[in-house]
Amino acid sequence: MNDYVLVINAGSSSLKYSLIHAESGEAVADGLIERIGESGGHQTHRGPDGETENSDAIASHEDALRAAIDAFETHGPSLDDLELAAVGHRVVHGGSKFAKPVLIDDALVAEVTELVPLAPLHNPANLEGIKVARRLFPDLPQVAVFDTAFHQTLPPHAYTYAVPSEWLEEHGIRRYGFHGTSYSFVAGQAAQRLGRDLAEVNLIVLHLGNGCSAAAVQGGRSVETSMGMTPLEGLVMGTRSGDLDPAVHGHLARELGWSIDEIDKALNSKSGLKGLAGENDFRELSRLRGSGDAKAQLAFEVYCHRIKKYVGAYYAVLGTVDAIVFTAGVGQHSAEVRATSLQGLERLGIHLDPVRNADPADDGLVSTDDADVAVLVIPTNEEWEIARQALDLVRG
Ligand code: ADP
Repeated sequence: MNDYVLVINAGSSSLKYSLIHAESGEAVADGLIERIGESGGHQTHRGPDGETENSDAIASHEDALRAAIDAFETHGPSLDDLELAAVGHRVVHGGSKFAKPVLIDDALVAEVTELVPLAPLHNPANLEGIKVARRLFPDLPQVAVFDTAFHQTLPPHAYTYAVPSEWLEEHGIRRYGFHGTSYSFVAGQAAQRLGRDLAEVNLIVLHLGNGCSAAAVQGGRSVETSMGMTPLEGLVMGTRSGDLDPAVHGHLARELGWSIDEIDKALNSKSGLKGLAGENDFRELSRLRGSGDAKAQLAFEVYCHRIKKYVGAYYAVLGTVDAIVFTAGVGQHSAEVRATSLQGLERLGIHLDPVRNADPADDGLVSTDDADVAVLVIPTNEEWEIARQALDLVRG
């Protein structure tokens, strides 16, 4: 039986793809097509021949997927030879409806379309990817894997906002949480590394990439998470503010005459590290800090302080914690973020080992051997998780 899944992550002007062996996680090829429908379209494809690039204009998502298929034909590996088992699609928002991956049919497309008001930036692009792939791979099962699904186990007291109850009933206003595919993957890996059954361990997971969030995972189930109805709430991110007094919106509207869209854009694209220090890339921020830039230093401190607050809060939610797990670009690579965020938490049984933390070994353990709480650095692999979940579903 073949175990290959084509994983597609369609954004508004980009399409990422990976061809994954779902059993081993090996990515036999991957690619990125950017600036779809804009000038300066660009495609990168990595396969057995190494990396190839193409700068033909790409008018639509359909053209983008055709370009990906062409790249497979020209540079390999051959999709015909591999006999794909399924196409797996990342879908950002599954609302309260989807707690698991789902086989895509017309009804599913209609349901995801109904959820567009909850994720106006993401779901339309994900749907476009689905429609195009169904046209170009009509004989393959297609599976939607939702970023929100893992958090459908949140208890009502964690997902309910203290607002008029009809807002939830009529408009779906509640916390959903995101990065669920990453949490699902990383939680499984953490249990393995602890040599324990996932059902027995309590974890605080910190996904720190361009978008950042935290989750409290109890026995493999998400019981708290920092992103809310949208991916804006919670930790400080590259360009997003995270937590903010909701009254700031009214203040900006009244005092500056800003429109709702302007406020939304400022909080999503011009805030976070970028808003504080003019730079959203963490490596660049570190360089600025190194040169004595005070704004970059403050941005770093605000970022780490927010993480520490969430670690404390989720410790209280879980009662006991077996491990704190750092993942995604910053979580994996910034020893300073790990050290600063966890500094002063020794009374909670959290003790980083400075040598291990500076250069984590393959087991990812960066805490001392006698610490009550293990601190782990684990690379996430959302594509593999999507491939695995898609294959499990189509195999039944
Ligand atoms: P995404 O959320 O888009 O998947 P990533 O998980 O790749 O993002 O994380 C991107 C972030 O990780 C960027 O801010 C980048 O600067 C940061 N990053 C990547 N490598 C390093 C590194 N060696 N040190 C510090 N930060 C890093």
